Amino acid sequence: MLQSRIADSEARYGSPTARGRAAWGVVVLRLWLALMALSLYAPVSTPQPTPGSSASEGPLEIVCTTGMIADMVRNVAGERARVSTLMGEGVDPHLYKPTRSDIAALSRADVSFYNGLMLEGRMTDALVRVASSGRRVFAVTEMIPEDRLLSPDGAEGHPDPHLWMDPSAWGIAVDAVRDALIACDPAGADVYAKNAAAYRERVIALDAYARRVLESVPERSRVLVTAHDAFNYLGARYGFDVVGIQGLSTESEAGVRDIERLVGLIVDRAIPAVFVESTVSDRGVRALIAGAAARGHTVTIGGELYSDAMGRAGTYEGTYIGMLEHNVNTIARALGGSVPEGGLRASTAEAPAAPARGLP
Ligand SMILES: [Zn+2]
Repeated sequence: MLQSRIADSEARYGSPTARGRAAWGVVVLRLWLALMALSLYAPVSTPQPTPGSSASEGPLEIVCTTGMIADMVRNVAGERARVSTLMGEGVDPHLYKPTRSDIAALSRADVSFYNGLMLEGRMTDALVRVASSGRRVFAVTEMIPEDRLLSPDGAEGHPDPHLWMDPSAWGIAVDAVRDALIACDPAGADVYAKNAAAYRERVIALDAYARRVLESVPERSRVLVTAHDAFNYLGARYGFDVVGIQGLSTESEAGVRDIERLVGLIVDRAIPAVFVESTVSDRGVRALIAGAAARGHTVTIGGELYSDAMGRAGTYEGTYIGMLEHNVNTIARALGGSVPEGGLRASTAEAPAAPARGLP
């Protein structure tokens, strides 16, 4: 049912179109980069080409679907853009239907960024319409090489959209955002390049931290049971088996048989904890706990993970890096690993100071 619905909407809205659009965008971008490279060697007095007029008229207006994307875009764009998010804390992007004001915001924006890979299943129509009206709309996952995408069994041709769970893959999306911003606002090229490099460095530090902390979990306990399949990239990156009670999209419901199979797995592997998610009902997780108890095995809730949305705006968990660190620490604590005191922020503060970057 779910598969046919996705296939149906792909047929109507066409991810090939999106890919084609992205490929075209890449060609334009490469041409533009080549021109820029040439202009570096041109006499200083040569006027610079300024395609895209927004730069001279104040900050770019940017609209992003999820918080993880908006956070990345804010970090790369800095002062050159005003960034807004359509889906806030606790919002499930698989089920989210755009409101009238969302459509208006997308239609007004200089640039919009979305995840793609069908994450925003019910927004695809709106995004395609906005793009075909001539607005700049980018999917941040479009630049990620195909060999980095996971396509779980039974979902052939529909890669898993939850790429932010692997910081090393999300770092590639940072570059995609940088390139898209430079294409829209060439005058800010240096700023975008510098900001993207700095943010990517922080994402790389997060990746190293996550590896260190998750490797402290005893090998036999490296099983992550969660409400839906949002954590495959995290599992693949750091060597955890991942089991979602619901599938890749929360549109599918877990059946009784799925629950029985999972209870068997939990009991057999003596899994101590399972996890609830901030954007998904905990009904399935509670059924697992009750099922395991009926078979004499105590499994607890290891904590709440941020899967498809960040934490509250203005908090550390309301940032991409804070959200992932929260997940890593919560998983490690619940499954018998250890978390360094002060977490990522303390461990990066200990690192030798980076040399001062560029000019003031
Ligand atoms: Zn999801």
